Amino acid sequence: MILAETRKGSARSRKEILDEGVLSARRGGTRGMRKVVPRGLVSFLGGVIFAVASLSIGQQMPIVHEPPLILGQGFLQSLRQTNKQFNLDDDLCVRLLSDFGAVFLSHGTMSPPTYLFENESSVDSFQAQLPRSDLADPKYPVELQRMAAEAMKASQEEAKRLALSITPASKEAGRRSYAQTVQLWESRVRHGIEHWAAANRIQRDEGERLLALAPTGQVREVLRLEARRIYFSKEFDKSILYSVAAPGTSQHLSMLAMDVREHADTGIRAILARHGWFQTVYSDLPHFTYLGVPETELPRLGLVSRENAGHTFWIVKTHKTRGAPPGEPDVVEECPF
Ligand SMILES: [Zn+2]
Repeated sequence: MILAETRKGSARSRKEILDEGVLSARRGGTRGMRKVVPRGLVSFLGGVIFAVASLSIGQQMPIVHEPPLILGQGFLQSLRQTNKQFNLDDDLCVRLLSDFGAVFLSHGTMSPPTYLFENESSVDSFQAQLPRSDLADPKYPVELQRMAAEAMKASQEEAKRLALSITPASKEAGRRSYAQTVQLWESRVRHGIEHWAAANRIQRDEGERLLALAPTGQVREVLRLEARRIYFSKEFDKSILYSVAAPGTSQHLSMLAMDVREHADTGIRAILARHGWFQTVYSDLPHFTYLGVPETELPRLGLVSRENAGHTFWIVKTHKTRGAPPGEPDVVEECPF
């Protein structure tokens, strides 16, 4: 019964989107991109098995299917110009592109070959080929791609002339390794499993099976649980992706992001924007991404501005743009992305 309703709800959402002509834009967007194995059927069957297994635990668990996330046409157009291959039939790919995909718009730099690095060696070999430059800082030396570093140095010079400063927020402010992104992710997942097992919403062996999966498998499984409102964020009230990047997706892996200590200063943010550094990860206060274009170009590239806690975030435009619940400034002071 629940499943039947879920299917009906899902079909209705898609129809609404078709009515608005957005889904057709998405179809147009996938043209010319590699079509890999259609995972829709696989994930649906997986969802059915999972739902049946859940019901067998004896709990009444609401199954919530949110409307599908559809990337805006401007962003799809920008993605096409990268000549990279994205499987836009994969909900995980679309979801992660909507959260962290602004990095693919970075001008004059090397954007990552994929929306999700699967392992340490793929990150290492990508980072090894990047032209890089160090940002000399007495406390936290930072490694960035050369263009990004040059723009950051120019920002620092401009700030200095105004008796201000722009400095790295932590020792992880610039380049990060794959292992660092996995470590943070797994700590949140473990925390979530403990919580939901204690609440009798998942079984402990289910949690152990989840933890035994490779990181990418864990991401899919966690998001599937979250579709049932079994959330893994710090307070267990929203998606884990609000509080930590999925392993292998952090913009820091591409050396195109820096966490800035003085992020609260509007003057500093204006200087960074003038040099192509923008906030592209909604809610992450210290995190800036090097895009290397004027701010006026960002809408054309497929980004849309959203205000949060007095900051302007330039995020990927989607049919269903996610954000914090009304009245609740959902921000983090230390960058987990
Ligand atoms: Zn960051």
